[in-house]
Amino acid sequence: MNVKKSAPWFYHDAELQSGMSVTLTDEEARHAAGSRRLEQGDALTLFDGRGTIAEAVVGEIGKRGRDVVLTIAGTRTVASPILPLHLASALPKGDRLAVMLDMATQLGMSSFTPLDCERSVVKVSDNAERRWHRILIEACKQSRRPYLPEVQPALSPGALMQHCKGEVWIAHPDGISPTALPSPVGDSLTILIGPEGGFTESEIAMVSACGARKVSLGTGILRIESAAVAMLAYARLTFAANE
Ligand code: SAM
Repeated sequence: MNVKKSAPWFYHDAELQSGMSVTLTDEEARHAAGSRRLEQGDALTLFDGRGTIAEAVVGEIGKRGRDVVLTIAGTRTVASPILPLHLASALPKGDRLAVMLDMATQLGMSSFTPLDCERSVVKVSDNAERRWHRILIEACKQSRRPYLPEVQPALSPGALMQHCKGEVWIAHPDGISPTALPSPVGDSLTILIGPEGGFTESEIAMVSACGARKVSLGTGILRIESAAVAMLAYARLTFAANE
């Protein structure tokens, strides 16, 4: 086995077991045989997006690197996050959405729900699901996170509150500092981020009536993705850092 300093990560959405042979195809095969130029005998790491990690060795590489056959040497399972962090955010424009999803995944986001607010301008596009899936996979690979965030269908803040079981924070410049809050109650934390025009008074009243806390990152007005990433970083370091 040609062991390199840090074996690159690849995603394989199927059961991973020691001794098993698996084949990478499509983007993952191109990544392995193309950009990473892996060769027979090279070591790599596979993850299934559900917490299982496998150490594997490259066997055969198909013509033009279309498929890469691997043998799994061993597996381990990483404990799931102690406090799942769910992000429900209005969509920022253009590339800023990709940046938000990438950074949020690196910070351990467990799920993403596009938030359809009264003042939302950007809507979920037709091919979004596949594009977002790739961004989340690449962010997991980059940050060595074996849990792939789930993408939920778009919901209004009111509809979202019907689904939320744990603690909910609504990000707002007029809220209280997260440092003044006790640990979240329940088994998850959901963070709501509003659109460029902000949440309407009625949206804030409705989610607050359902138990959401209005939480502030200071008086400055942050972009959607800055607010999302700052909230997740705070919550992860304070309540959810078990990895
Ligand atoms: N004019 C809008 C307003 O006053 O709400 C600005 C909206 S901001 C571009 C987009 C979202 O980021 C806000 O709805 C809020 O959820 C979040 N946000 C921005 N600045 C924040 C801050 N200082 N504290 C907490 N959340 C913030």
